[in-house]
This record gives sequence, C-alpha cells and structure tokens, in this order.
Amino acid sequence: MEKKELLYEGKAKKIWKTEDENLLISEFKDSLTAFNGKKRSLEEGKGALNNQISAVLFEYLEEKGISTHYVRMLDENHMLHKRTEVIQIEVIVRNIAAGSLSKNLGIAEKTVLPFALVEFDYKNDALGDPKLNDQHCLLLNLVNHSDELEFIRFTARRINTLLGRLFTKMDINLVDFKLEFGRDKDGNIILIDELSPDNFRLWDAKSGESMDKDRFRQGLGGLSDAYQSVLKRIQHRSKEGWA
Ligand code: 5GP
Repeated sequence: MEKKELLYEGKAKKIWKTEDENLLISEFKDSLTAFNGKKRSLEEGKGALNNQISAVLFEYLEEKGISTHYVRMLDENHMLHKRTEVIQIEVIVRNIAAGSLSKNLGIAEKTVLPFALVEFDYKNDALGDPKLNDQHCLLLNLVNHSDELEFIRFTARRINTLLGRLFTKMDINLVDFKLEFGRDKDGNIILIDELSPDNFRLWDAKSGESMDKDRFRQGLGGLSDAYQSVLKRIQHRSKEGWA
C-alpha cells in the first residue's frame, strides 16, 4: 500500500490517502509540540517509537474486543488504518490527579482518584480545547445522540481497565490519557488516532519518573530514552502473551 496525496498535516502526524478510499496512511513525525503549539521541538526517532508503541497497543485492544481503526504497521514511521469521520471530542481518562485536573480543580498532584474520571474536551486548537459537558456535545452536533456519548464513555472506561492492567504488569502507572474516536464507513464508532506517550501520562511505578511527553513539557530531557523504555516493556509483554 502506497502513499498518494496528502490529506492532512497535524502537529504529530501526516495523513496520506491510498489507492483504497477506505484506507489511510499515518506518518508519525519527530516534531514535538506543547501548550497548544507554543512550545516546539524535534526529537529524532520519536515518530518511529510512537508508531511502534501505538501498533502494539492497538493490537492488544483489538484482541480484547475493542474496535479500532488499526490495520497494520507498514514500516517504522507509517501505519495503515481505516478512514473515519473524526468525532471532534478529545476523551480524557484520569486515574491519578495531574496536569490540568490539578491546576483547574486544586486536587493535589498524585492523588489517586476514587474512580476513573472521563472528561470531554473540544478538539479545537483555535479555542484552546475547552471542556465540554454532554449538552455542549449535543449543542455543537459533535454526536448525533446522547447514547453515542454513553457508548464513548463506556468504551473509554473499558480501554482504561485493559490498558491499566497491562501497564501495571510493566511496572508503569497509567495516570491519564487522551483518546479519539471516529465513525467508519458503516457508521460504527471506533477508536482512532494514536496510543503513545505523547497522549498518555505514564509514571514508572518504582521511581515515579515521567515516561511521557511531560518530559518535554517540563524540560526534563531524556524523552527518547523514556519512550524507548515504554516500547521495550510493551514488546516484552507482547512476547510473553497478553493473558
Ligand atoms: P491535561 O488535561 O492534564 O493537560 O492532559 C490529560 C491527558 O490527556 C494527558 O495524558 C495529555 O497527554 C492528554 N492530552 C490532553 N489534551 C491533549 C492534546 O491536545 N494533545 C495531546 N497529545 N495530548 C493531550
């Protein structure tokens, strides 16, 4: 499968059309951005790491019954996936307080939440990704019916349970993460985008160190080494069998 014309270029990926109108290719870039694009950098090899981490996690979730857009990895930086109509909602799942939750609501960082919190952000850079409640989602026609929001929330929680279990076995705490969903050609809502340390907060269970994009956001350095360590641990688990 080959890249045809460029459909879209985002901050972390280029999306290419293919000869099949229902399939697209994502090219994972080495660029890093934070704070709504205000902080920028390049990290050689980051795209390849995110592509490989995402591929293994999509395979894991598919095996556990979650429908995703993933088809296969083409090479280090390219993933073949289904074409969907993107639902313009960023679905955030949180297990431990950090980031904007601590900043906005004053919950001390590292507080373990009594339940997995699911939040919706409007996927809109110009507006700075504001928080949405269910009525906002309906008002903006981001979904067709409140049942779709329930499905997205339920699926996000299921994904959190599955990924949380996996990361625990890898000595990593799954703090929080962002998911995106889209509608496939048959109208089914499926998981899309990427599953990588660019979108996840991952803390090493022993040292508490960040193994995610916070290393860049906070200027800590060592981003590639941290992502590499996440990939190695995931590959090790996948070889052992998911169970
Ligand atoms: P927070 O709301 O604390 O900034 O982010 C919560 C989680 O969602 C973090 O794991 C963060 O990486 C992810 N997240 C939220 N918004 C975005 C976004 O616009 N881009 C990316 N890459 N991740 C996001």
